[in-house]
Amino acid sequence: MLPKQTIHNQHLTYISMVWILHIIIGKGSIIKYTFLGTRGYIEKKSDRHRRHSAFLISNQDHKVMIDCGEDWINRLSKVDPDALLITHAHPDHVGGLKKGAPWPVYSHPDAADELKAFEIETLRIMEYEEAFTLYDIVFQAFAVEHSKRAAAAGYKIKLAETVLFYIPDVVYIHNREKALKNVDIYIGDGSTVEESFVRKSDGRLVGHTPFRTQLTWCKKFDIPRAYVTHCGTLFIEKDERTLGARLRKMGKDRGVEVKIAHDGMEINLPTNKNG
Ligand SMILES: [Zn+2]
Ligand SMILES: [Zn+2]
Repeated sequence: MLPKQTIHNQHLTYISMVWILHIIIGKGSIIKYTFLGTRGYIEKKSDRHRRHSAFLISNQDHKVMIDCGEDWINRLSKVDPDALLITHAHPDHVGGLKKGAPWPVYSHPDAADELKAFEIETLRIMEYEEAFTLYDIVFQAFAVEHSKRAAAAGYKIKLAETVLFYIPDVVYIHNREKALKNVDIYIGDGSTVEESFVRKSDGRLVGHTPFRTQLTWCKKFDIPRAYVTHCGTLFIEKDERTLGARLRKMGKDRGVEVKIAHDGMEINLPTNKNG
């Protein structure tokens, strides 16, 4: 019979191994959000903002990519997503699909016509605000104002206990109450920080709302964290540290932690929302 202490030590070793395995293969550790690209529809680029804004949600064995602009045209097979979601049919969001796609592409009804021109094997239409589940990830498309010709949507994304809202191009969100309620992380349009890029076209507002205004939306709906993507020229030409400090101050004034996303940046949420 083994001494009591040895049995105790063996038991502790067993617990440690189970714990390590839990960390390595545990469900929480597999969830990953990656900013594949963070550049807006601009000519200039930098190492930090090289590719058109695109976002990847990885969950166990599956990957869902949101948007696929021109920059991704010959790079998509490297990402090899299981499915793609589209926010709107501007070239910096769908141009990468021009040569077609063997992966299923999901779109709200208003972008479907443009996508039908590409050789996409499986095009699935989802209705606005109707929740649908893909590989345990729940998506909901919300109509937003941005362009007269390319009607746009933002996505509410729920995975495990975390809720994200992803909207790379926006003037305003139509059903903002429902869209932003219970959101933990807002990922928004960085085309401009303070200057208004909103204009009127045939009585409709088009363009991009400053990130400062988007932070005020976050404040209104108690969203604690915001990421800037779809970065405008400002992020290429100006010193990003100074810009970051300015954005963090704007966030602090509104109770929101702000981060400027860059290509390849990940948001990790191991088992809780503090990751
Ligand atoms: Zn765009
Ligand atoms: Zn756009």
